[in-house]
Amino acid sequence: MPLHLTNTLTRTKEAFKPQDPTRVTMYLCGPTVYDYAHIGNARPAVVFDVLFRLLRRTYGDAHVVYARNITDVDDKIIVAAAQRGEPISAVTDKFTRIYRDDTAGLGVLPPTIEPLATAHIGQMIALIERLIEKGYAYATPTGVNFHVPAMATYGKLSGRALEDLEAGARVEVDATKRNPADFALWKAAKPDEPYWESPWGPGRPGWHIECSAMAGEHLGETIDIHAGGHDLIFPHHENEIAQSECATGKPFARYWVHNGFLNFGDEKMSKSLGNVALIHELRARWPGEVLRWALLSAHYRAPLEWNPALLEQSKAALDRLYRAVQRVGAVAPAGREPSPALIEALEDDLATPRALAELFGLASALNKSEDAAEQAVLKGQLLAGAGLMGLLQVEPDAWFRGAEDEAAEIDALVAARTAARAAKNWAEADRIRTELTARGVEIMDGAGGSTWRRIG
Ligand SMILES: [Zn+2]
Repeated sequence: MPLHLTNTLTRTKEAFKPQDPTRVTMYLCGPTVYDYAHIGNARPAVVFDVLFRLLRRTYGDAHVVYARNITDVDDKIIVAAAQRGEPISAVTDKFTRIYRDDTAGLGVLPPTIEPLATAHIGQMIALIERLIEKGYAYATPTGVNFHVPAMATYGKLSGRALEDLEAGARVEVDATKRNPADFALWKAAKPDEPYWESPWGPGRPGWHIECSAMAGEHLGETIDIHAGGHDLIFPHHENEIAQSECATGKPFARYWVHNGFLNFGDEKMSKSLGNVALIHELRARWPGEVLRWALLSAHYRAPLEWNPALLEQSKAALDRLYRAVQRVGAVAPAGREPSPALIEALEDDLATPRALAELFGLASALNKSEDAAEQAVLKGQLLAGAGLMGLLQVEPDAWFRGAEDEAAEIDALVAARTAARAAKNWAEADRIRTELTARGVEIMDGAGGSTWRRIG
């Protein structure tokens, strides 16, 4: 069965056929780099990394062009830089580096191209000029707006009607708009804001035009797959379509795929541990593969409940897989092909829960097998299937040693705290407890001494 994807544009699951199998194109809206990324931001990076890997397997590594942009000019960035008293580039450089490090830590392959918005201002201006020429956009004293009623098919991705948008936008009065639903393509610079020269005076691009310009520049006028979070369908992706299609007269993206939300149902987790949901903090507590497994444990279109139990289960699942591989350490894997069931699951609209269950089944069969030839086949399928999903990337011994080393460190900290308490050095005892809490460890003091457990 060829790859099928649920296309938000047609609201159906469709067989994927690229325009050109020697150049399959995919675009994912990347981060706005003004702060640490949240685990919710990691979900699209990880699930569409699986899609990228699957496309590379089908069409060849050299034939898939995947662009994931960096938004390095935005209102939030300007505010963050002002608050820190730092230049904008200091903020964007720092958080771009951290984002790359965080996603690499989750086993995400670098995209083929990682365009920076600030390196494409010329393309954005050219695109806006085309839209004005064709009558889809107009200059105002505060910049340039896209005129939504000029596009007959506006709203086709999100299914929203123009009348509803007009009614919704009326609360926010903007005298420069010809229609309440119109949106900004270019914003005139206010004092102390970064700006670029343009035919409409100094200013900066709106967020939506950035993606249209970068996708057009690197992937062409019509791209195969456009991916992103469900929350971007409106207005961001709707506006990307409007800008690109009105400028080129061609379809912007053929398949639109969107991932669901990540929910924090467990109030306790966020209350007791504050900003525990940041990727870099979670990585200090859990191996990257545990976080990756957790992110892939639900179907990408479904909401994902994020809680400590999910991380415990993901860790236990990976331990089980690594143990199965460790048991047959001396057996050379036969073949490098994933099992047909795993490929079938991924090609069925990226059914990662089914693919993970298949890995589990292979590990169980491997644990039961006493036949060397069968073990070699199962081990080959397990490693290749896990590899395609970016899992089981370390040696089993290193995986278990990492966990043991960490447990030994925590034991030593708990013992040091017990000693500090015995010496009535309360400041030191508190300091150690704080350090353990930051690592996601809770200490329980009882009559028989102190024990500890992980809390996520
Ligand atoms: Zn975008």
